[in-house]
Amino acid sequence: MELHFLPFNLEFKHPFGVSSNKRTHTPVIFLQLKHKEYTGYGEACLPSYLGETRENTLAFFELAKKELKKFDSPQEIRLILESIDKLSPENNAGKAAIDIALHDLNGKLQHEPCYTILKIGKSLPSDTSATIGIDDEKTNSKKIKEAESFSFLKIKTGTNDDKALITQIRKYTDKPLFIDVNQGWNDKFFALDMIYWLKEKNTVLIEQPMPVNKADDMSWLTEKSPIPIIADESVKRLSDIDKTYGCFSGINIKLMKCTGIYEALKMITYAKEKKLKIMLGCMAESSCATSAMAQLMKLGDYIDLDAPTLLKNDPFKGVEYKSGKIILNHNPGIGVSTSLSF
Ligand code: MG
Repeated sequence: MELHFLPFNLEFKHPFGVSSNKRTHTPVIFLQLKHKEYTGYGEACLPSYLGETRENTLAFFELAKKELKKFDSPQEIRLILESIDKLSPENNAGKAAIDIALHDLNGKLQHEPCYTILKIGKSLPSDTSATIGIDDEKTNSKKIKEAESFSFLKIKTGTNDDKALITQIRKYTDKPLFIDVNQGWNDKFFALDMIYWLKEKNTVLIEQPMPVNKADDMSWLTEKSPIPIIADESVKRLSDIDKTYGCFSGINIKLMKCTGIYEALKMITYAKEKKLKIMLGCMAESSCATSAMAQLMKLGDYIDLDAPTLLKNDPFKGVEYKSGKIILNHNPGIGVSTSLSF
């Protein structure tokens, strides 16, 4: 197998604000994995708060390139991914890129979409939330208008005055909301008061209300909350499900956090055994990584896969969006194409 990579900047239509920062673009690295006449594609999405840089991801891909030469066939997928995982204790986005490319390549070799090979079955078009980052009122009203066809909105909060932010949003829409606090609330009593207030404003769930290091407060909050509390930053990989058990009512699984489809499936199976809700989420990824995650769509309770709709220079074609729904195609692998040259 031959591995090629291409650094790229994905640009937002509107600068993207969360509780900790605002950015205009996200660095990514696209992968091309070749075997015989077949090509698989992958993507590592590297927003800076994850701590994975382009430099250390490229260094990781150099190691992975050597490792991949030890295998004759991409169909040894489990063995390959387990050995790639051992190359570094971190680099989860880099590992996810290789996992995605391998799944894509295998699908193409077998002329089947990944969802068939993974025995999941094709999902019907699903409602996905549309994300509204933190912004001024004028820009937010514009973004809400652009998201008109979506049935749910995901609002990023964690501002100095979240009640004012939501009151402002409610001037423009009465759609059900997912509220993503991105660890922005520090006091559990304040957080519980906010959750009750938000429930009255038609909020369906709250994502990561408090910082990762406040596990006891989070568990107190989840016990008392009238709506589901979903982990994001607190749960990256499979082992985090046990570490945070009791702190949340569900988990947001993202390929870039969990190292890819292989581990995401293990997490879904285990989380369901533990009666946790499953949200399938993404970083600010292109249609490449989003189409990979969409293969698992049938297994999610909440779908939050709108990243490509926030971008102005997505170089991949894959999943499509119509009437607020994300639609998967029947093409082999993860079902993507691109005119990028590596
Ligand atoms: Mg989140």
